[in-house]
Amino acid sequence: MRHIHAWLLMLGFSLAVPSAVRSQGREEANRLAREIFEQLININTTDSVGNVTTASEAMAARFRKAGFAEQDIVIAGPNERKKNLVVRYRGNGKRKPVLFVGHLDVVEARREDWSLDPFQFVEKDGFFYGRGTEDMKSGDALLVANFIRLKSEGFVPDRDLILGLTADEEGGSSNGVDWLLREHRDWIDAEYSINLDGGEFERDKGKRLMAAIQASEKVYADYQFESLNPGGHSSVPSPDNAIYHLSAALSRLQGFTFPLEINEITRNYFSRTATLTAGQLSADMKGAAQQPPNQGAVQHLSKDPYFNSLLHTTCVATMLSGGHAPNALPQTARANVNCRIFPGEEPEAVRKTLERVAADPKVSVTMVTQTSADGKPLPVVSVPPSPLLPELTRAMEKTITTMWPGLPLVATMSTGATDGKYLRIAGIPSYGVACRRGFVSSESGT
Ligand SMILES: [Zn+2]
Repeated sequence: MRHIHAWLLMLGFSLAVPSAVRSQGREEANRLAREIFEQLININTTDSVGNVTTASEAMAARFRKAGFAEQDIVIAGPNERKKNLVVRYRGNGKRKPVLFVGHLDVVEARREDWSLDPFQFVEKDGFFYGRGTEDMKSGDALLVANFIRLKSEGFVPDRDLILGLTADEEGGSSNGVDWLLREHRDWIDAEYSINLDGGEFERDKGKRLMAAIQASEKVYADYQFESLNPGGHSSVPSPDNAIYHLSAALSRLQGFTFPLEINEITRNYFSRTATLTAGQLSADMKGAAQQPPNQGAVQHLSKDPYFNSLLHTTCVATMLSGGHAPNALPQTARANVNCRIFPGEEPEAVRKTLERVAADPKVSVTMVTQTSADGKPLPVVSVPPSPLLPELTRAMEKTITTMWPGLPLVATMSTGATDGKYLRIAGIPSYGVACRRGFVSSESGT
């Protein structure tokens, strides 16, 4: 809990509180964070039957009790179950605000798949159990507890600190960050944002190798491969078959690799990580970071699915349907192809590449339209990386040094997608910061 507090302070302020009072405050904040964490886990916030509004209201009650003004606490959203919470911590206005974001919703959890009730917080043998303990109610609890702690210590920042706890990061049609940016940008407008849903501690056999700050992410896009055919009776088949056309196109996709791509962030990631690893892996990372990259090194690294995804746009078949009766020739065959597009590459260019790879005029390739909270089509657009800010990296490095001396801070590109993309597209640089202290976390995002 302490480290978030420390770098909140380092973002440009000092605090005139004696150290004995601070350490007492720290214990109190830890207790508070634990209590909030438990409260949030016990509120089901899934898309199907959960309620994000209940969680927003529970947190709002805490802010009111802590002395935040009513006008600085807003609960709003496009539907009754998906309301977001926005809290403004007033500073002296010398600089533009910083926005902190976290999502309150969690992925579905079926009771029969769990050994314990996923919506009942349990602490056992030094671990926390419950849906959202890792992604990301621990982060939400840290943010709420720190805002309340700073308030109780009389802290006055030189800029407003805004907290946005939001809905539908994990899916659903009411993404809170998207909705807030479109409907109430002034509530959350900031110089930059910190997203506790991104960033990782990379580890090797439990030992921390680096603290990663997520400054870029790939773009999510779905494409449909479709083959149509007049059909006919299966007792007199012709070679012109919708399922065969589609499956041959998908086989060609299976054998295709998008061209190598590398940007400032991934090049830096490989060159920094090379110094933290050994042997062939280290040599390959060094090779990939060269300008131009060493092709052999790139090929080696690309055998690992994670590094492959860092080095290329990837597209993979994820769903399949076709035919309408066991004894009829198929009139349709369709596949969903999910792509993770390298930042800066145009989604339409990816579609054209897929069309070329499918290499069959009887297989059409179209982009699947995503929709926003209010049902409007959402264009898939390229997401720019966020340039690293010295004020932020310095604050984080200082904090990391106090907790894990020598642990390097490295900017990364996330292969999944987080709410950072909406902010980056809207011109608010976004940085994903590891908050899952004590957890070995996997790649986050949808
Ligand atoms: Zn998440």
